[in-house]
Amino acid sequence: ELTRYRNLSAETTDHYEVALRANLEIVSEVPAAQEDGAVGIGLYRTEFLYMNCKQPPGEDQQFAAYSEIVERISPHPVTIRTLDVGGDKFIQDMSLEHEDNPAMGLRAIRFSLREVDLFKVQLRAILRASALGQVRIMFPMISGVAEIRACKRILRTVSVELEQEGVLFDPQVKIGIMIETPAAVMIAPLLAKEVDFFSIGTNDLIQYCLAVDRGNEHVSYLYEPLHPAILWALKQVCDAANAAGIEVGMCGEMASEPMYLPVLIGLGLDELSMNHACIPRVKRVLRNLTRTESKDMLNALMQLSTGKEISAHLDREMRSRL
Ligand code: PEP
Ligand code: MG
Repeated sequence: ELTRYRNLSAETTDHYEVALRANLEIVSEVPAAQEDGAVGIGLYRTEFLYMNCKQPPGEDQQFAAYSEIVERISPHPVTIRTLDVGGDKFIQDMSLEHEDNPAMGLRAIRFSLREVDLFKVQLRAILRASALGQVRIMFPMISGVAEIRACKRILRTVSVELEQEGVLFDPQVKIGIMIETPAAVMIAPLLAKEVDFFSIGTNDLIQYCLAVDRGNEHVSYLYEPLHPAILWALKQVCDAANAAGIEVGMCGEMASEPMYLPVLIGLGLDELSMNHACIPRVKRVLRNLTRTESKDMLNALMQLSTGKEISAHLDREMRSRL
């Protein structure tokens, strides 16, 4: 039954359209993502290219992977996230030293900004792929404006080098950040001035906001996507993005749960990116909701005090509607 939804638009009954995109880990997932109706890639986790190799992949090897995805997905966009290593993403042979608290250690953009030569290789490969379709560059684990500015400086240096070498790339390539630290939520209006888009990484955002290790079963009962702190954080981020006129999407697991759709639509997210297999289910529920009732539901949910109350309320509402 779900295959019927593949070619239908992802819009509510009052015509609010959301781009449903796929999260990608390996290139060979592209045909399945297209089969399931993904209109582009909202998150390509490039760290998978770095896993199981003795040496980090070189520029040409990375370019081959990026260009294959971009060409296959064109004319839809492909958001390529720069290396997100560290924390629970362990890569052998990448000279990552032991850290007592890796989730708060040398992760993601922090690693790239320390290993600038590696970072430049990746940015060159991404920029070269941008000549072949609609590429968007996304930086993970941003906690302040200085980090974005440092990324943009390095990106500018790499662009000048490519230009001097006569290598083609898209000079207007869109730049965005993952919103996955509480600091990024708090200063979302400042960050919004620096970038073209936000993508909310709820997997990490929930872990850092609620101080709950996303991989620790002993505290998993506290890992609540509908905790009021999370709803309020999401609202702040979306309001900041809307006020600045930039796009805001979500690429954490929360985006793939149909039950949460009134919250996600109520917030005004432009894009939901998820495991491709979840797209048809999400689309089916989305096509039965309205933006107006979703906004009302979100407002009602934001008056409640606990994750359990919010979840029970949402469950009742959804059951009565669908
Ligand atoms: C996230 O944190 O929500 C996210 C999408 O990134 P990852 O799961 O790769 O950390
Ligand atoms: Mg993350």
